[in-house]
Amino acid sequence: MSLLSVRDLEVTFDVRPRGAWPWTPSLKLHAVSGISFDLAAGETLGVVGESGSGKSTLARAIIGTIPASGGEVIWDGTDLQTLSPHARRVHRRQVQMIFQDPLAALNPRMTVGEIIAEPLVTHDPSASREEVRQSVRESMERVGLLPNQINRYPHEFSGGQCQRIGVARALIVKPRLVICDEPVSALDVSVQAQVVNLLKSLQREMGLSMIFIAHDLSVVKHISDRTLVMYLGRQMERAGAKQLVRQPRHPYTRALISSVPIPDPAKEAARKRPVLEGELPSPLSPPSGCVFRTRCPLARPACAEGVPPLEKVEEGHVVACPYHEEQQAWSAA
Ligand code: SF4
Repeated sequence: MSLLSVRDLEVTFDVRPRGAWPWTPSLKLHAVSGISFDLAAGETLGVVGESGSGKSTLARAIIGTIPASGGEVIWDGTDLQTLSPHARRVHRRQVQMIFQDPLAALNPRMTVGEIIAEPLVTHDPSASREEVRQSVRESMERVGLLPNQINRYPHEFSGGQCQRIGVARALIVKPRLVICDEPVSALDVSVQAQVVNLLKSLQREMGLSMIFIAHDLSVVKHISDRTLVMYLGRQMERAGAKQLVRQPRHPYTRALISSVPIPDPAKEAARKRPVLEGELPSPLSPPSGCVFRTRCPLARPACAEGVPPLEKVEEGHVVACPYHEEQQAWSAA
């Protein structure tokens, strides 16, 4: 059985246009539409897409801080919507988040020890001071921080160390699923690799499931077992992480892959690449039919007529483009 199953998830918000009269009807913003996937225990799912593609909203709907407007989030066999208050508290403990901006995510008035201890004190109020302190020390060691730094404040640490504090805080309650929301985007490239490698080894060591959100496919490929590509709240493609990069089917996935620079300058200069032009449309008025059609070089009139269903191209690989076979002429480098 999957640890997490997401079925046709919808998240919509009522939005009142800026400057509108109070009696003006609100508009529906479709942040997430028709997202489905399963996540097994110990597996990592990468979620990629540009800013505004609904990745963080998806994360918050899974963790339960944003209510779903439709579909189901099934945690360990039970629909989140039907959880009792006690089961909801257990779920909150078992699913933890790591955030994008490590320094901004940490309370500057609290010591590192207090920051890391906070989730444990919240979820296990009966733990003694000594037990909490011991757990904090173990958690700090696990992520490569020195336990003697327990009384320091976040501003005394580098960006990479602050993210390690965030990881220690998430892991102190021994969660089953960790959702990493762009955990390395605010870090230098060299530090990014350290944090990704740390997450990988912790995942193996603790048997964690992980959802790793990023806009950079090269980072996601390194850490994920499978990858889900999102555009304007919808699922464009989902496949094994390596398979997706080796044989992308959706034009949007191809464009994302081609935006990753090749380290060799000569190869980079000679590279033919599909360029993603234009801006992401507003989710308040998404294009009809295929939401990618306003930026897709393969778009045709039929693409405006209906939302393309996810088509299985091989085991574990689905794509939302009925014309994906015709893309050889527009191939990625
Ligand atoms: S359905 Fe049409 S617009 Fe959408 S990705 Fe395929 S070719 Fe492009």
